[in-house]
Amino acid sequence: MDKQVALVTGASRGIGKAILHALASDGYLVVGTATSESGANTIQEALNSNGYEGQALVLDVTQDDSIKACLNNIKEKYGAPTILINNAGITKDNLLMRMKDEEWNDVINTNLSSMYRLSKACMRDMMKAKTGRIVNISSVVGASGNAGQTNYSAAKAGIFGFTKSLAQEIGSRGITVNAIAPGFIETDMTDELNEDQQKALMSKIPMGRMGSVKDIAEAVKFLVSESAGYITGETIHINGGLYMA
Ligand code: NAP
Repeated sequence: MDKQVALVTGASRGIGKAILHALASDGYLVVGTATSESGANTIQEALNSNGYEGQALVLDVTQDDSIKACLNNIKEKYGAPTILINNAGITKDNLLMRMKDEEWNDVINTNLSSMYRLSKACMRDMMKAKTGRIVNISSVVGASGNAGQTNYSAAKAGIFGFTKSLAQEIGSRGITVNAIAPGFIETDMTDELNEDQQKALMSKIPMGRMGSVKDIAEAVKFLVSESAGYITGETIHINGGLYMA
């Protein structure tokens, strides 16, 4: 296959959907995932209606079997992905005092352990291909912390260490590993913030607006491009100045 295959997890909506479409419009053969058949159908319809080449698959990033089935499916049809965008994520906010084990474990599993599972499952084929790009979607709160999000901040901070370590392990194989830390982006995830929370937030953002999914997708496009071939182990913060690392 001439076209590189890009796998984007959690592409049914929000940031993942924007990344999927940005990569497809740049000429990559894209595979986008959702946790349900209906989500996958929605992804497929959107790809088809835009005339993009690619496929939608069901994937649960917390389940080894699901990852194996998804990757086998991709390999049989298109060949192994050389671009992996670890985007899928969830929040289950609570003050630590009230946090349930399930809220802690689900968030760590979905946001952080998924990076371990997916990256490990994809990197052997990237090594064979002698090229690869892994982009991990973290969050500003992984750097700044946020009351009520100990689980989410811990997972997102873990991504920084994971990214730097893996970048050191596989840089010599022509594979780059980077992270993006979005600030507050307009998606289903931030729709959950109430009006007071949104107002308080806006007063702290020098650019005076929430980010758009395109702000993130454009940076992903750059990181997977030839132009970014010497950038690895880095985090790009995209937050309108909310937090300056
Ligand atoms: P979103 O709109 O809530 O979408 C989340 C995506 O992840 C959906 O496609 C969802 O699939 C998928 N997903 C959830 N659990 C999954 C699982 N177990 N296995 C596979 N896929 C799963 O989220 P978003 O706002 O676009 O966020 C995308 C990423 O950016 C996340 O990692 C998030 O933490 C990070 N981020 C977001 C913001 C923000 O302001 N929005 C800020 C910083 C970082 P289904 O549709 O099937 O449920």
